[in-house]
Amino acid sequence: MYNMMQAPTNDAPHNSASSPGKTLDLCAFASTFEEWSAARAARQHDLPAHRAVYREVFFGAADPQNFRDCPNPIVRETHDGELVKFVQRTHDGLETESVIIPMGGGQRSWKTLCVSSQVGCARGCTFCETAQLGLLRNLSTAEIVGQVVAARRFLAADVRNVVFMGMGEPMDNFDNVVQAVRVLNDTVGLSIARGRITISTVGRTDGIRRLAALGWRRINLAVSLNAPNDEIRSQIMPINRTDNMAALRDAMLAFPGRRGAAIMVEYVLIPGVNDATEHARELAGYIRPVRCSVNIIPYNPRKDSPWPAPSEASVSEFMRVLQSEGIFCKRRVTKGRDLMAACGQLGNRELTRPKSRPIQISAPVSAAISSP
Ligand code: SF4
Repeated sequence: MYNMMQAPTNDAPHNSASSPGKTLDLCAFASTFEEWSAARAARQHDLPAHRAVYREVFFGAADPQNFRDCPNPIVRETHDGELVKFVQRTHDGLETESVIIPMGGGQRSWKTLCVSSQVGCARGCTFCETAQLGLLRNLSTAEIVGQVVAARRFLAADVRNVVFMGMGEPMDNFDNVVQAVRVLNDTVGLSIARGRITISTVGRTDGIRRLAALGWRRINLAVSLNAPNDEIRSQIMPINRTDNMAALRDAMLAFPGRRGAAIMVEYVLIPGVNDATEHARELAGYIRPVRCSVNIIPYNPRKDSPWPAPSEASVSEFMRVLQSEGIFCKRRVTKGRDLMAACGQLGNRELTRPKSRPIQISAPVSAAISSP
């Protein structure tokens, strides 16, 4: 088991890019078993042996001296009780950040892993630390799956749920995120059910429709709303200038949720921006037609933030008004704020974009989706 008490604190990678079997391992991180074995032209009688090799990549012994199965080695980790933020170094010198969040309690405790889909983000939300980086690049499928493997295999975390709420906008890296969900879901490998996976979006409506068009009924959608009206949302979230709140609500209404499940609407409560009583009422009016639960997230100040965290009294009052309007809402428990591991706080500003690296965002997907 990886020794967390002797976690590395320097930036030296633990594995070598020239490790034997590297190509094979990377392929397994990026492929379902069916794809992986088909690529090897495995015949029926070969499958048990292939299955054992494939599973070894995900469940083999964790040896800190030999991280060859993990495409991005862990180079830093910080702990706040059971909450762990860990950093992996990519082959091109960038970093991914992931957060292991303790859930439940006692005998019924487990972990949720918050994964990154990009290094940095192009979306420019003003309350978010990741936005300060800009977009450095999309993560590959292997790099996304590798965060889950790192948490489970090398940090011995009982990860049962995965949320795409780390660095980046998942819909801007749609194909790699969807393939990562397929790999995570594969019962030969990690076997994390789609009902335990949540994809969070800044509100890219074509991405929501494209996700719906996959026909996956058991996938959870979270939408980062954060404002009661277009005027405020456009000020703090540039996406609103192209995908306004009316369009966003139409996309949410068209999303085919499974029975008993609801879209999670995230609302970062920022003092003096979106936390007034009239904002709560306006939000209730906007969101009422959507089958959803509202997750109130007390703002976690990013570095050099112009806003403080909200007071407990203002969080309670905002929720009271929402509830009095008949809206089901929960408060997200603030964890990891001191580690800069809380919602909206991920990102190492010391990373800079190499001048020669092109920025790639998935092309608009509207042509590939069915009409609303
Ligand atoms: S809140 Fe999400 S979409 Fe907005 S800048 Fe941060 S990571 Fe990107």
